[in-house]
Amino acid sequence: MKSSENDNKLGRRQFYKLTMGSLLTHPLLKLMSPALLTSMASSAPLYRAPVPQDPITKLTGIASTSEFTGDEPDPNHERFWNVDGYIQKCGGIPAATESQNVVIVGGGLSGLIAGYHLKKLKPLILEQASQFGGNSKGEVINSSYYSLGPAYISIPEQNSASHRMLNDIGVLKYARMESAADKKVFLNGKVLSNFWTGQHEDPKVFAQMKQLLKIFESNASNFNQMTVNQWIQRNFPQITTTLYEYFQYYAWSSFGATLDEVAAGEFFSWQASEQHGVMVFPGGNSLITQFLYQNLVAALGGTQMRTKSAVLKVIPGNGYADVVVEEQLNKLKTIRTKYVVMAAPKFVAKKIIHGIPASQMQAMNTIEYRSFMVANVSLRRNIPSKGFDLYCLKKELPKVPSSAAPFSKGFTDVIFSNWAQGDKGSPCTLTFYKAFPYQGARQFLLNPFAHNKHRDFLLAELQNYYPELGITASDIAAVRMTLWGHSVPVCRAQFASSPQLAVASQPIGTVVFANQDNFISPSYESSEQSALIAATQILKSLK
Ligand SMILES: Cc1cc2nc3c(=O)[nH]c(=O)nc-3n(C[C@H](O)[C@H](O)[C@H](O)COP(=O)(O)OP(=O)(O)OC[C@H]3O[C@@H](n4cnc5c(N)ncnc54)[C@H](O)[C@@H]3O)c2cc1C
Repeated sequence: MKSSENDNKLGRRQFYKLTMGSLLTHPLLKLMSPALLTSMASSAPLYRAPVPQDPITKLTGIASTSEFTGDEPDPNHERFWNVDGYIQKCGGIPAATESQNVVIVGGGLSGLIAGYHLKKLKPLILEQASQFGGNSKGEVINSSYYSLGPAYISIPEQNSASHRMLNDIGVLKYARMESAADKKVFLNGKVLSNFWTGQHEDPKVFAQMKQLLKIFESNASNFNQMTVNQWIQRNFPQITTTLYEYFQYYAWSSFGATLDEVAAGEFFSWQASEQHGVMVFPGGNSLITQFLYQNLVAALGGTQMRTKSAVLKVIPGNGYADVVVEEQLNKLKTIRTKYVVMAAPKFVAKKIIHGIPASQMQAMNTIEYRSFMVANVSLRRNIPSKGFDLYCLKKELPKVPSSAAPFSKGFTDVIFSNWAQGDKGSPCTLTFYKAFPYQGARQFLLNPFAHNKHRDFLLAELQNYYPELGITASDIAAVRMTLWGHSVPVCRAQFASSPQLAVASQPIGTVVFANQDNFISPSYESSEQSALIAATQILKSLK
């Protein structure tokens, strides 16, 4: 990534020049009438996940969790707290006994996409967890798919690299599009339709969004130097309570950060993109990682796809690198490789790459990560989806949480997982999102009581929605809670627009970087673009 690319046009969600009048005329949507979109999703064949290291886990029945799923923190705390000490404990770095063309460190979305683009070099993908997918994982109970994290992507442009890849791996045909006109929210427990089309009780929200995006689009430069709040104060102080409340929840839920932190350019480019609608898969983005995983197993063979393989050291050499991996507990192996794609986040990369230049280390140290909690509530009976992703608004400004005054609210938004399957999946699962938009939340989430405490917050708040959902407490069959400890990089203004961001991801010898944190933007799009850039860097250097 060149530093000149690192400016405010970089919204990772595609930024289309358009006005609200043309919101419903995205080229893809033009091709498909709303009825066709619905029937496409309803008739989409249900996908079945076969083997255990898959990103999507097939559950045999409905049961609640008593502890968080998601991160597998236990072995990693010891490993990465003091990597060199841990290596010594395992007997030191052994001599290289395996050679590879490319080793990809991390089998999350970025690592899998890099693997897809580098298939012809037969890369080896090493993932420390017991499954591929990173935080883009999902589960399926009977025929109901739901996500443990990421839920949707922006609609990729026809024939873009992303569109071609999604089509090639066979996942595109399962997509359902939610247009801006379909967007609903909960307002004081009741579903409010047409949130973005000006037909709801407060047409000002629509008018303001239109006006605001117009101002943004007319001068989309330098916006990443400002936070969203600074931008609003300067350009749009007349914002309504409902729109501002929505923005706050959106920032917490999508960026894991507050409006006083998030870069305005990135934030509004996401808003502008979502006015075209979003693309949703059964199981959210885990269906993408699932299809990528299967595509790679077919192309590379199972032995090039290794889970439970934590990389402890990457030592760049002259035209090669040595990768030290713990292939069984306390048993190390060294692999000599021509190239490394570092698809693990920078907070791991900085601990395991040997000889990082001081300026790059400083840039890596600047990136902060936030925690996220996701709760999947499975019902005993099916209820029709009220929409896809509904933010839960009250027409009042929520208290911005901080480490001193932690987040006690149950959730910011809820996804009807079955919406993507045209309500055909069973049982019906509701996915609730709760981000922790402040530093230091994670240590409290590791407390043994945190699981039940947050589940109880959720269930208490959910009662306010029973009448509208047409359910009672006895309809709840299971609550499954997932915790992602350092899952999203904070898209801080200033850093997002500074050349430092590119410094954090510059190649070191034959080690290149591919992760959402290359752009500090927590999205499919940043993973996809970082992986494409990393793969291109390698393929170009071969010529
Ligand atoms: C709750 C939640 C909701 C989200 N919602 C959305 C959404 O709706 N849409 C969207 O586009 N994005 C969403 N995101 C952002 C999401 O993080 C990205 O879309 C994407 O999944 C990031 O993928 P990644 O591969 O860059 O990082 P990760 O998923 O973090 O993958 C990194 C991988 O590296 C592995 N690893 C780390 N260290 C090592 C090591 N030493 N050795 C081997 N392997 C290692 C990890 O185990 C992991 O599998 C959401 C994120 C969260 C947490």
